Amino acid sequence: MRRSDREIKDPAEIEEILKRSKVCHIALCKENEPYVVPMNYAWRDGTLYLHSAREGKKVEFARQNPYISFCVVSEWEVVEGPVPCSWTTHYRSVMGSGRVEFVEDAAEKAAALEIFMEHYTKGPFEFPKAALDRVLVWKIRADSLTGKKNV
Ligand SMILES: Cc1cc2nc3c(=O)[nH]c(=O)nc-3n(C[C@H](O)[C@H](O)[C@H](O)COP(=O)(O)OP(=O)(O)OC[C@H]3O[C@@H](n4cnc5c(N)ncnc54)[C@H](O)[C@@H]3O)c2cc1C
Repeated sequence: MRRSDREIKDPAEIEEILKRSKVCHIALCKENEPYVVPMNYAWRDGTLYLHSAREGKKVEFARQNPYISFCVVSEWEVVEGPVPCSWTTHYRSVMGSGRVEFVEDAAEKAAALEIFMEHYTKGPFEFPKAALDRVLVWKIRADSLTGKKNV
């Protein structure tokens, strides 16, 4: 990282940002065509969880090339300065990458969706079979993770 003074080295803080953020942008690439999509997500034990419809552009991309990168931002604020070049942004963010696995086992899917829901609200949750069949659950074990902040 060029601005190593801004690197978050404490894994606990990286974990906290991943737990606190609400939106994840995933970057995909198929045959040199880039594609970025905002999504809800959950994070647990080094794994990013996503859910989606079974079809669509991002699914087509991930099936063709399962390697993605992702980014979450837990806080940000534009900080004004006296001249344009002294404006800045305060933020904390985490980036990572990994390989998408689509979860097909019903019990594993329900467990992943429970993790997903717990990111946003309290349970208990029920997942009817028809809903489980409709949804595609993405599981991405992070093979790289970095945090950066300007606060
Ligand atoms: C905060 C937030 C959270 C979301 N959470 C989820 C989630 O958890 N799961 C989920 O499946 N989707 C979520 N979405 C919607 C998601 O961003 C996509 O719109 C959706 O998943 C369809 O993606 P697709 O690749 O299948 O698009 P398709 O329906 O195949 O359409 C492809 C084309 O539509 C356009 N497009 C697609 N999405 C967007 C977009 N968001 N904004 C502008 N243009 C777009 C692009 O031009 C793209 O090339 C969320 C969106 C937001 C903003």
